[in-house]
Amino acid sequence: MVISRNAYGKINLGLDVIRKRPDGYHDLRMIMQTVDLYDTLTFEKQPQGISLSIDNQELPVDENNLIYKAAKLMTDTYGIDGGVKITLNKRIPIAAGMAGGSTDAAATLKGMRDLYGLMVSDEELCRIGVKIGADVPYCVMGGTYLAEGIGEVLTKLPMPPKAVLLLAKPDINVSTAFVYGNLKLTEKTYHPDIDTQIDALHKGDLQDLVANMGNVLESVTAPAHPVIGKIEQIMRECGAMGAMMSGSGPTVFGIFTEEETAKKAYDVLIAQGMTQVYISSFINFESTEV
Ligand code: ATP
Repeated sequence: MVISRNAYGKINLGLDVIRKRPDGYHDLRMIMQTVDLYDTLTFEKQPQGISLSIDNQELPVDENNLIYKAAKLMTDTYGIDGGVKITLNKRIPIAAGMAGGSTDAAATLKGMRDLYGLMVSDEELCRIGVKIGADVPYCVMGGTYLAEGIGEVLTKLPMPPKAVLLLAKPDINVSTAFVYGNLKLTEKTYHPDIDTQIDALHKGDLQDLVANMGNVLESVTAPAHPVIGKIEQIMRECGAMGAMMSGSGPTVFGIFTEEETAKKAYDVLIAQGMTQVYISSFINFESTEV
């Protein structure tokens, strides 16, 4: 039996950093949204051991891959007697602020559960998944959520109204450690109004949701990489309601009401030499098979 699962990426419609904690982590308040850009994984039983093959040479296939870690965690936690052969078809940009690794890990937790017929709830997978990464529980649930704590405390929110989403990952590398390491929270730090965004979601008001978008981490990443501001400007000039960096970057997303204007921005970005540009949309898991 071969099981296939799609692992969806996310964007942050709002990202606030509340404080740095004594343990070095940051307390966050984020609005997370699953998007229609996904990796595909397959799972097949083998007598023993975890083997992973990936159609992208940039990624490790050993225990450094979050997929491997997730498969090992399931094996150890539930005493699974047997191995697994996993393949990954990678489409989500890597190290991009779209939780590509975390979503693959979440899909692996579910894939192993289903392959071995374990009676384990999604909530239970969230509880063990947080050991792999703070975004893994969100990726298990998928959809629209307020994520607090280090990202693992989840409250479900209504899905935003329909919109066209343009995703653009510039060809630069931004390490999450660099971004948090250089974040200086002062009284002058601009904090996005997450509560107003939550109200906007409850009212189904796309305009208000977008008008209140903001990402504290952009105050570190954007000055270091002017290309981020440039992409946002192009998206706005082409008619985006709003444009912002996702997570710790460098992926920028634009929200459009019309497919036509999103396509115009797509064409301009491609003409400027960008290669990782995608027209996408918001999705929730109720509308997918995940
Ligand atoms: P986040 O939004 O959670 O910060 P990200 O999109 O910035 O995530 P990832 O794509 O998850 O970053 O990858 C970050 C690093 O994790 C990469 O440099 C990569 O080597 C490593 N990694 C391990 N497993 C995976 C995986 N399955 N997919 C992508 N990256 C992985």
